[in-house]
Amino acid sequence: MLTANKAKAANPLEIYRILPQNNCGKCLLPSCLAFAAAVVAGQKKLRDCPGISPDLLVKMAGVYRKPVAGEIEQAGFVDKIQRRIAALDLAAIAPVIGAVHRDNSLVVNSLGKDFVVDARGNLSSECHLIPWVQIPLLSYITNKTHGEITGSWISFREIKGGIDWQGLFTSRCEIPLRKLADANPALLADLIDLFMGQAIDWYQADIALILHPLPHLPILICYQAPDEDMDSALTIFFDRCCGQNLHIKALFTLCSGLVQMFTRIAERHLFS
Ligand code: SF4
Repeated sequence: MLTANKAKAANPLEIYRILPQNNCGKCLLPSCLAFAAAVVAGQKKLRDCPGISPDLLVKMAGVYRKPVAGEIEQAGFVDKIQRRIAALDLAAIAPVIGAVHRDNSLVVNSLGKDFVVDARGNLSSECHLIPWVQIPLLSYITNKTHGEITGSWISFREIKGGIDWQGLFTSRCEIPLRKLADANPALLADLIDLFMGQAIDWYQADIALILHPLPHLPILICYQAPDEDMDSALTIFFDRCCGQNLHIKALFTLCSGLVQMFTRIAERHLFS
């Protein structure tokens, strides 16, 4: 068991994993995911779920610390999007966002993996649930506008609101990914295999690959390896439809989460 001073921030998906996941409503919330979000926000305690065994409550004591303001805000935001999803006609929205409607849920593919969003906005997947996927994926479903893939590529700053986020996008996404590619020459090629990417020819790029973090959200990563007298370069482009399909803040969250995931994979030496 972790001691109190080693307590970590609660994460809604981590909490959700230890819940009975039967959405019984005995905690007076509509779903287990809503309960997990309420725990993260400090509005509920684990003991408020009668389905958690006393043994598990003892085991979890001191594992999570009190949430800070940002975490409370995030949990509130998830709750808000889930309410929007509960009001949606999932069968109607599925073809519009490139998802599949099955068993009153949406099946949304991200990087070759299926994520299932039920009618209450609860997220599950047959693979490991990645926390940073949650908000962009739910935001993608509830976005006010939706557009088809155009095949036309634009830079981050050309997307509505992109100029305001450009500095952060460069420092948290493009620069770390470039350094990662410099240190792991096989990285980008391996991403193609791992995440159902597609290599294309692109002007002046040694490697150019397309990934689909969400069905109607293709991104193009262009990398130029360092040469004798030239530094390496890496730019991430977006299909013109991306700005229509996801708010710029969620797009940034998605890209920075992707880069963090690639970093962790590279650290675990999965790339040869
Ligand atoms: S009481 Fe527990 S099992 Fe029931 S909905 Fe709430 S969190 Fe889920």
